[in-house]
Amino acid sequence: MTVLSAGAEPGGKARLRALLPGGESLSSVYGFQHGAALRHGVRFEFGVQAAAAGVLALRPDAVVLATGAAMVAPDWLPADLREAGLVPDLRTAMAELARHHRPQPGVAVLYDFDHTEGTYSAAVRLRQLFERVVLVTPLPAIARDTSLVTRQGIVRRFAEHGIEVLASHDLVLGSAFDDGVVTAVHVYTRAPTAIADVALLAYATPRAPDETLWAALAPQVPVQRIGDCRSARGVQAATSEGQLAALAI
Ligand SMILES: Cc1cc2nc3c(=O)[nH]c(=O)nc-3n(C[C@H](O)[C@H](O)[C@H](O)COP(=O)(O)OP(=O)(O)OC[C@H]3O[C@@H](n4cnc5c(N)ncnc54)[C@H](O)[C@@H]3O)c2cc1C
Repeated sequence: MTVLSAGAEPGGKARLRALLPGGESLSSVYGFQHGAALRHGVRFEFGVQAAAAGVLALRPDAVVLATGAAMVAPDWLPADLREAGLVPDLRTAMAELARHHRPQPGVAVLYDFDHTEGTYSAAVRLRQLFERVVLVTPLPAIARDTSLVTRQGIVRRFAEHGIEVLASHDLVLGSAFDDGVVTAVHVYTRAPTAIADVALLAYATPRAPDETLWAALAPQVPVQRIGDCRSARGVQAATSEGQLAALAI
């Protein structure tokens, strides 16, 4: 069995999550899986962006795809800013910030339509780096997709770290964004709140599976999708599906 991965090391996005507060234990999950696969003779090729032609050239009997999922750009983000990469999704932003350890000046604004735990861990990490963090969500409260106990811990950590929340707010990007100003508007009253001195604006939204390779390969070879590229969920589902697929092969 050959594993092709665009990443430099095993772990996919879980590696990024392991760098965020509260995610430290995750590294043991993919560390164990990587070691077990090596013991069973699996060959890993890292830093390889697989294309359909290259995969078919290996003449595979079966293909397992774990290409993950990407956060969908929010409606308020104009296409030109999206293409310029000036407003990254949270995953991209945190991967770039992983190199930074010194406090940065300015405000980090995080738009949250994701509401899962990793987004709030990222907010805590951002607060370690930026003078101020403002989380903006169109929903009336944060952490709606977490259990009550988890939500209580998130709310406590936000209070301890002084992370500000603008609930029931959406974002509007106008020309003032060039001067570092982002406007949040209340979803019901449209009352504006200007946030100045913005150094980082990132969004956490629901993820859409990356189906590029699946669409190209499925007509030609048996293909099984696992993890986020089947349906964006969490590390546990991706890991167990991966293990079951590998054992079956
Ligand atoms: C910021 C953030 C926080 C999160 N927090 C949590 C959390 O607290 N708890 C939880 O359970 N889940 C969390 N998740 C979700 C979790 O990370 C994912 O569910 C999990 O990583 C999915 O694993 P996967 O292997 O399916 O996909 P991914 O981890 O996305 O891995 C896909 C890999 O495929 C590679 N790839 C894609 N296309 C190609 C190609 N053509 N050729 C070669 N390689 C390719 C990518 O580079 C990537 O390395 C979080 C996600 C994010 C983004």
